[in-house]
Amino acid sequence: MSTSASTTDASPASVRHRRASGDRFWERKCLSELNDAEWEALCDGCGRCCLHKLENEADGSLHYTRIACRLLDLGTCHCRDYPNRQRHVPDCISLREAPAESFAWLPETCAYRRLAEGKPLPGWHPLLTGDPASVHLAGVSVAGWAVAEDAVPPDADPEDYLI
Ligand code: SF4
Ligand code: SF4
Repeated sequence: MSTSASTTDASPASVRHRRASGDRFWERKCLSELNDAEWEALCDGCGRCCLHKLENEADGSLHYTRIACRLLDLGTCHCRDYPNRQRHVPDCISLREAPAESFAWLPETCAYRRLAEGKPLPGWHPLLTGDPASVHLAGVSVAGWAVAEDAVPPDADPEDYLI
């Protein structure tokens, strides 16, 4: 994800319309060639990348927990202040500015990771279904099972929340 200003003719909604017209832009462009609206439209809105992760100090591997970033809306799975998110959460990563080779930490379902690995979008992706809710209907989003960061007791062991 990355911050972008939407315009009337290049908004993610407009991009979805182009997709409905048969423009599968993600198949003819590499990630670095996407404009801002195309880039944003690729995000399926699952919210998985906004879950806290624990790093295994022995091998450096990352493991997802059910604990969500405090800025994540657990109903919509959207960031509650996306344009200004790094002001609230300084370690929030801007994928737009990160090298695609570094996307291995993202969930396997993530469109950015999949395209970076040469894989197609999954059939439930909103760009293919035309329905933003299809990510929830497919059971891919964190809706219904993520835990708000503020709801986790301060003395809780984060390992108890590992997925
Ligand atoms: S995991 Fe990928 S597709 Fe899902 S919300 Fe994060 S950036 Fe978007
Ligand atoms: S600030 Fe939190 S909720 Fe917003 S995009 Fe970053 S990790 Fe996700």
